[in-house]
Amino acid sequence: MEIIDGKAVASVLKAKMAAEVAIRKTSGLKVPHLAAILVGHNGSSETYVANKIKACKEVGFFSSTFRYPDTITEDELLNVINLINNDNDIDGFIVQLPLPKHIAENKVINAIKPSKDVDGFHPENTGRMIKNLPCYIAATPYGILKLIEHYKIETKGKHCVVVGRSNIVGSPMSILMSRDTYPGNCTVTLCHSKTQNLIEYTSKADILIVALGKPGFVKGDMVKEGAVVIDVGLTRVEDKAKKSGFSLKGDVIYDEVAPKCSYITPVPGGVGPMTIVALLENTLKAAKKEVYNS
Ligand code: NAP
Repeated sequence: MEIIDGKAVASVLKAKMAAEVAIRKTSGLKVPHLAAILVGHNGSSETYVANKIKACKEVGFFSSTFRYPDTITEDELLNVINLINNDNDIDGFIVQLPLPKHIAENKVINAIKPSKDVDGFHPENTGRMIKNLPCYIAATPYGILKLIEHYKIETKGKHCVVVGRSNIVGSPMSILMSRDTYPGNCTVTLCHSKTQNLIEYTSKADILIVALGKPGFVKGDMVKEGAVVIDVGLTRVEDKAKKSGFSLKGDVIYDEVAPKCSYITPVPGGVGPMTIVALLENTLKAAKKEVYNS
């Protein structure tokens, strides 16, 4: 069994990006600039944005945070997006989700210029992803592809089972693993809360990707001997022993499942660190105009 060390892979990829940015600087080329829009004071969102900004600094990108109170109206937010869409210095930006209930997330995502949509949530990028055309792939699935690539895990002809069908993780992951490319060429089964007899599917998976948000949901008997298990779950669970008062738990019972696996991602330190790296990669692509040429 090999542990997929997302933290180590993320460090390698960040060092590579930092070197490329340094060369861009000395060559007078555009230094990537990522902006984040943060609405309200959701603790997790604040942490996610702070981590993204910190990662930008580590690789030498410029970054900006646009903060608004949760009383901002939908129209005001759409105006901000329009301004950033037209700001030539900002290569890519994200709107940290969730947004307050009075703002329609879809409307906001659709307002982002696809060429700056480095989260890959705009339907233009989703459509391109399905057609295997140049696009920004949503950060978490993109990070998982990079992990699979880094460990040279065989995917062709394998049965990949994805549990969870969210727009940001499960659904794009299922499409990516079925595309005619590497990583990909899997036969994919997408499971969700209405799936009957889930264990029938998970126990037949060569590659099991779990994105539910239910700590400890996947038990040892749900996994096939030799499977590759990618645990996307990341839930804060109260933990009095920790200074912060909580610890992060995955969807998989690691101690039961790991001995059966050929590869497994731990939580924390597996998928999480790669999500931010994937966002940085998308931003670098945006600065280089690799996906859209305008
Ligand atoms: P989500 O939008 O809540 O989706 C959860 C999915 O799980 C849904 O499709 C749901 O099915 C399915 N589900 C729930 N209960 C189930 C059950 N009993 N059996 C089968 N399927 C079930 O969550 P998400 O945004 O995809 O996130 C999933 C987890 O990944 C969370 O813990 C989140 O924190 C974590 N995450 C981690 C990262 C990272 O960087 N590591 C990034 C993103 C998300 P229905 O569609 O039928 O409701």
